[in-house]
Amino acid sequence: ASSSDRERVPLHVEVRMKPPSSTSLVFSRVRAMVAQHLDNEYETLLLNSAVEDWREVAGLEKHIERIWIGECAVHLSQVTLQIHVYQPPSSSKVTEFSTNAEGSEEDDGDDVPAASVLQLPSRSLEGLWDTLVYEGDVKGKLLGYIYSTMLFSDAMVDFNIVTWNRVVLLHGPPGTGKTSLCRALAQKLAIRLSDRYQHGKLIEINSHSLFSKWFSESGKLVQRLFAQVTEMVEDESGFVVVLIDEVESLTAARAGAMSGKEPSDALRVVNALLTQLDKLKHRKNVLVMTTSNLSAAIDGAFIDRADIKQYIGLPPPQAVYWILQSCLREIMRAGLISPTTLLDWNQIALLRDTGVEPSNRDEKCSEALWELAHACQKQQFSGRTLRRLPVLAHARHLGLSSSISSAGQGTRMEQWLEAMRKC
Ligand code: ADP
Repeated sequence: ASSSDRERVPLHVEVRMKPPSSTSLVFSRVRAMVAQHLDNEYETLLLNSAVEDWREVAGLEKHIERIWIGECAVHLSQVTLQIHVYQPPSSSKVTEFSTNAEGSEEDDGDDVPAASVLQLPSRSLEGLWDTLVYEGDVKGKLLGYIYSTMLFSDAMVDFNIVTWNRVVLLHGPPGTGKTSLCRALAQKLAIRLSDRYQHGKLIEINSHSLFSKWFSESGKLVQRLFAQVTEMVEDESGFVVVLIDEVESLTAARAGAMSGKEPSDALRVVNALLTQLDKLKHRKNVLVMTTSNLSAAIDGAFIDRADIKQYIGLPPPQAVYWILQSCLREIMRAGLISPTTLLDWNQIALLRDTGVEPSNRDEKCSEALWELAHACQKQQFSGRTLRRLPVLAHARHLGLSSSISSAGQGTRMEQWLEAMRKC
């Protein structure tokens, strides 16, 4: 790289290959061809969107499924393309592992899996990252944190002097996309780090199962589980994301211990978890992501270990608008709404600001959606509630008028918006 290249900011280009699996030679050929194709036009590329015109390039059609341009904070004249070629397996296989010790007598036929493992990148998580909208640049901040820890690890910064724990905590009300963001970030990392790591794994730990009815065993369960996690992390050719959902159920134990009847057991669970997390922080190829709906209930010692404690709140009107718009577009794609163009938030906000009356149908529908977004935000709807609004609207107000057989023509957008407003 020339010195001017070194000052440039990377613009991430994600190239998804078609199955079945290709050789590394094909990967590098595809990378070179994409680089050549985009090089001529990269100052005109649109961020956070798919590139379309590669299909005419001979040789690319055969291998590529999608080319996606990532986020970027600087002007395109200051970027250098960083191309990540990846190929998710055609099926998303989830394996489960239990914490019952081999030959254990405990098997009473009620063995809740303690964790599940998903191979990354996975088809089931494709596109999830782009469907999530938050206030502020939460996604950028998380990616930035990962890149910084990578840089520090690579530069061999002395861990005794500068420390980090590789633990991220997302907390906030339920249904605001915390778990989805963890999964999406894991997928993003597997794609972006595909030139360093040959494969990735997402291990989702089921907090509740660790509090089994064999309560006094739970400390041992945590140890057994993390022994398996450590085994996976020891393979340094892969990257591992550990997701602990609703972490408060594990770490509230210490508080419970003060009043509960089995204080020593509860403490053992928390201590086992903290000890295991401390062991993982020395590994380069691991990230622990945790979520919680009740940050007040989390153990202080755990909170202290999280490098990033990010509050994820209810979506603001702009995010509500975007979520509903994406739902409506999808229903339109499926042919259940007759074609209508919905303006983007910025366009409709501008119209509202200038006080210009909507002059056509598209603008009128967009304005109705704008009002709906504000109404939903006032009702404090979570992302989860918003995404089911269309189904409820249809079931309650449109189901009778539009039978499945007439789905081909689609109901008018105005009717959908009105049904959603009533809901
Ligand atoms: P949490 O873990 O916070 O309870 P989830 O990650 O389970 O929430 O999200 C539930 C659903 O709601 C997901 O299908 C997700 O797509 C949707 N959702 C929630 N928040 C958002 C958001 N900010 N943007 C887009 N979709 C969201």
